Amino acid sequence: MNLQVTESDVLLGKSLAELTTWMEERGQPAYRGKQLYQWLYQKGARSLGEISVFPKQFRESVSDYPIGRSNIHFRAVAPDKTRKYLLQLQDGLIIEAVGIPTSKRLTVCVSSQVGCPMDCDFCATGKGGFTRNLKAYEIVDQVLTVQNDFGERVSNVVYMGMGEPLINLEQVIKSVKLLNQDVGIGQRSLTISTVGIPNKIRELAEQKLQITFAVSLHASNQTLREQLIPSAKHYSLQQLLAECREYVQITGRRVTFEYILLAGVNDNPENARELVKHLRGFQTHVNLIPYNPISEVDYQRPDGQRIKQFQDILQQNKIAVTVRYSRGLSADAACGQLRASRR
Ligand code: SAH
Repeated sequence: MNLQVTESDVLLGKSLAELTTWMEERGQPAYRGKQLYQWLYQKGARSLGEISVFPKQFRESVSDYPIGRSNIHFRAVAPDKTRKYLLQLQDGLIIEAVGIPTSKRLTVCVSSQVGCPMDCDFCATGKGGFTRNLKAYEIVDQVLTVQNDFGERVSNVVYMGMGEPLINLEQVIKSVKLLNQDVGIGQRSLTISTVGIPNKIRELAEQKLQITFAVSLHASNQTLREQLIPSAKHYSLQQLLAECREYVQITGRRVTFEYILLAGVNDNPENARELVKHLRGFQTHVNLIPYNPISEVDYQRPDGQRIKQFQDILQQNKIAVTVRYSRGLSADAACGQLRASRR
């Protein structure tokens, strides 16, 4: 660990032009910049020493240079093949990333912060507090690490790991551009999920990205939402939905609403009907997430019949709806279970 190195020195996160300059400053021809770029973003090089196309002497002289990759501190594999990683950053802090394979896709769930300041009642990440925002390169690193570990190209990235992406919007947007332009993942295959931060949804919309955008709604009225999500006290459901409508207008893309289902709390047919009222005429899609248990609180997951009933009410009202049965449950890698421990 070299604490002298500042973020601007780290190679991952730099553009092709910046990498070319970096090589030229070290007496290397410009085309070596392109090679460095390809090895960093395509081959996922973890050190300059392994870039075998570089002259041996040069390679040796820069082999210790920090390129911005984390170390896999711990890895757990669930029976459904989902892999949860604890990654150690350069400053020693630990974050989580999850690799979720299906027959056609490899999805990575990335963290945007170390910990999370939102403290939603049902989520494990918030229970551990908040430490710092991640830099864009630290988000890209998670994708490259999972890609490398599976030996397979990542097709989708969801910003649904630790943290609230819209509090770290600048670095999150930078990472979206890096993943899209430099790693080569389509914007529509990148999903940002937020609990909603005042004015930030508009700011994201103004970027006019083609990403998939999801909002963690979780409640059908303001009182219930405040009970589950402390920050909702400063951001009314009405304001949140108004900003989401603006998002649709500005980007021409629909908004996905995530709705966690907690038995006896927000899963009543009445809640479903209330939700329908809010979403009528909205270009949207609802993703129901049956609660994944965490140890700190005693919420319950509703049974299948109850979930189906909620889903049916939305469907009958012409609202597109899917149920997300989270992967990786037994490895504590499912939605809301991420915390930097290896229980
Ligand atoms: N802060 C962002 C990103 C986290 S995404 C956001 O709130 O959207 C993770 C998703 O999993 C969110 O929709 C979150 O509310 C949901 N989630 C949190 N805890 C959960 C739990 N115990 N069971 C199921 N889903 C949970």
